[in-house]
Amino acid sequence: KNASRTAGRHFLQIPGPTPVPDRILRAMDTPVIDHRGPGFATVAKQSLEGIKTIFKTTNPVIIYTATGTGAWEAALVNTLSAGDKVLMVETGQFATLWKKLAEKLGLKPELIPTDWRIGADPALVEARLREDKGHEIKAVCIVHNETSTGALSPIAEIRKAIDAAKHPALLIVDTISSLASADYRHDEWGVDVTVGGSQKGLMLPPGMSFNAVSDKALKAAATSKLPKSFWSWEDMIAANKTGYFPYTPATNMLHGLNVAIDMLHEEGLDNVFARHDRHAEATRRAVRAWGFEVLVKDAKYFSPTITAVLLPEGQNADKLRAVALDNFDISYGLSFGPFFGRFFRIGHLGDTNDLTIIAALAGAEMGLELAGIPFKKGGVQAAMDYLVSAHQGAATGK
Ligand code: PLP
Repeated sequence: KNASRTAGRHFLQIPGPTPVPDRILRAMDTPVIDHRGPGFATVAKQSLEGIKTIFKTTNPVIIYTATGTGAWEAALVNTLSAGDKVLMVETGQFATLWKKLAEKLGLKPELIPTDWRIGADPALVEARLREDKGHEIKAVCIVHNETSTGALSPIAEIRKAIDAAKHPALLIVDTISSLASADYRHDEWGVDVTVGGSQKGLMLPPGMSFNAVSDKALKAAATSKLPKSFWSWEDMIAANKTGYFPYTPATNMLHGLNVAIDMLHEEGLDNVFARHDRHAEATRRAVRAWGFEVLVKDAKYFSPTITAVLLPEGQNADKLRAVALDNFDISYGLSFGPFFGRFFRIGHLGDTNDLTIIAALAGAEMGLELAGIPFKKGGVQAAMDYLVSAHQGAATGK
């Protein structure tokens, strides 16, 4: 192993899990408390109320001791029944995995295909729903931010598309790689179930996930027939009312969650979103300066949290990732599906600042050279120029 790996911090530039800030680590590094004792309810109530402000909802948010996949399953088993049709859009790997999960549960998912280089097109969703005159489709499931490609889908527009088609389907949205880093409004956008996870924008370790619910989703839950026990919203909502859980929750993760929520509000959610937008734009400028393409081909769908860098045909992105890890102790995300081996993903979400992004881009630029992949120098310079101009603009109010 290269000696340079032993000093300094590992650069975790995958699109989640993301680095956990010291303040959150310190908050979690505390004795475990009695989850039935009087002190616990104070912690839990803070979490249960605080997380609503991140989803922007006044309804309950269910907190699971599970990864995002569990919250995916929970969203479906609480609202649907065996044989129900659900409409999904094949934005990439995660939409595909969610579809497979739905199939295993006995649902009938239908996938609107894409070339993995765009997000979910509201016009296609609307057209399909208009065809469904008998209202057989019970839910529209969209991955807000497709982590495997860096495509962000316009959820408010999808809501309008469902309304325009006068279709009663539930809207279920996965925000695992967008929550607390891209603008999101559960109530205002009329989302019925929002699925979230701890390990990305919330800056926590993996292992906690969420379902934000609407009144319509709660109504659907009352008649939904898919089997559920651990995932059942009903027991959770009842127990949460008094500040407790039906089982032993991840108490130390709740301490961390409370600090994460504080940190996000201290910065201000709009500032958090602007910071992510700035880092995404800096990254895209670097990619273009290298002479490469951003995988997502339509600016409408650019993700503020993840950029997939498409290398020219014949080049191996996994070699770049291995060389950068070996020499600079930095991790980038791998590629999937039709572009397997052709792209690497730079995560720019969570506890990241301008210099983190510059380091992440410098690791890639040096890695390209060491890997012998032909490129134009100057990507890091282009990103620095953009960041300087963004700060000058902020200083002069432009
Ligand atoms: N959905 C999206 C968009 C994701 O990015 C991920 C994980 O990266 C998942 C679902 C699955 O979540 P988990 O790996 O936490 O189970």
